[in-house]
Amino acid sequence: MNALPLLLDQPVSAWGLPPDQPYREKQIRTWVLQRFVSSYEEMTDLSLPLRTSLASRFRLRAAEPVTIQGSEDTTRKFLWKLGDGSYVESVLIPATQGLEGNRSSRLTLCVSSQVGCAYGCRFCASGIDGWRRNLTAAEIIGQVLEASRIAGRRPDNLVFMGMGEPLANLPNLLPALDLLISPSNLGMGARHVTISTSGLAPQIEELAYHPLQFRLALSLHAASDAIRDKIMPVNKRYPLDRLLEACDVFVRAKKKQIFFEYILLAGINDSPEQATLLAQHARRLFAKVNLIPYNKVEGLPYERPSEEAIHLFCRTLLKAGVRATIRREKGHDIDAACGQLRLRQEMKQPEPT
Ligand code: SAH
Ligand code: SF4
Repeated sequence: MNALPLLLDQPVSAWGLPPDQPYREKQIRTWVLQRFVSSYEEMTDLSLPLRTSLASRFRLRAAEPVTIQGSEDTTRKFLWKLGDGSYVESVLIPATQGLEGNRSSRLTLCVSSQVGCAYGCRFCASGIDGWRRNLTAAEIIGQVLEASRIAGRRPDNLVFMGMGEPLANLPNLLPALDLLISPSNLGMGARHVTISTSGLAPQIEELAYHPLQFRLALSLHAASDAIRDKIMPVNKRYPLDRLLEACDVFVRAKKKQIFFEYILLAGINDSPEQATLLAQHARRLFAKVNLIPYNKVEGLPYERPSEEAIHLFCRTLLKAGVRATIRREKGHDIDAACGQLRLRQEMKQPEPT
């Protein structure tokens, strides 16, 4: 059965509305994209026959909340159950910004793009149990709509930094982005949507020429092939030369700043030599660097460097003229920080068919 949210991106002629009721389009858009309803019954200004007809043709929800965990720092983690019984997670992170007296609260939603992940980065929880399947466009959008309903409003920012590798799922990601970004639908605004990739060079080039605008974050995590090979198997397929060349293409075509994500792993990638090399790569691409002190994942052997080492690494970048910040993450106590999302035993996934 098709998904109702996806229909909103189709010409109205495809909706099968009664020909004398063109105003129904706006009503349906409002129920789905502004009120985030979870059932057709709630669409009270639609006639019963229309509701019944829509319900028989279009599924309204693609993800249903199973658990909602709240962190002490007010981050919330959602576990969603999908139509086939698989589970994925999203994380809602509030942030206060602005000066005293003029504070506003921004909501960032971190969404998943796949069930599991095939890329097996050594430090990441999401790849531990392998890849199950791609999320459909409706399931990607479903995470946003469901989280909006629970939060009472649409998030201000979206980051594809949950479970999975978004660029390995472009056929579903692109239609989802279209709906999330386009002003006539969810209207997120391209500057507020960030896609993070472990470095799929051909897809980065493909996106360079795609009309959709969004921000790109590259999970670099090591500045030389010798170290990247050890912690990110994808580097064997697309070594740094090839990857940075693809980023060149992206930056030139899109005329946009990209971001490097760099997890700091004690004794692995936090040496001054790595900082110097990283600064060279960042300067070449005018990239901004987000340093992420490693979040502990149970069963993995890595440690976060000392505060002193983290600051030293950051200072080396700044001195080399690179924009760099240390990202302090939220949601540690509920395993909702970057890289802590995983398919746990208790989320019994159905066997692949
Ligand atoms: N597959 C994509 C997007 C999901 S991962 C990618 O790799 O970019 C989202 C971010 O979390 C990436 O930057 C990833 O490298 C980072 N991450 C993974 N494990 C982590 C951990 N244990 N601590 C901190 N960040 C982690
Ligand atoms: Fe997959 Fe990204 Fe985790 Fe690597 S860091 S295993 S690509 S989710």
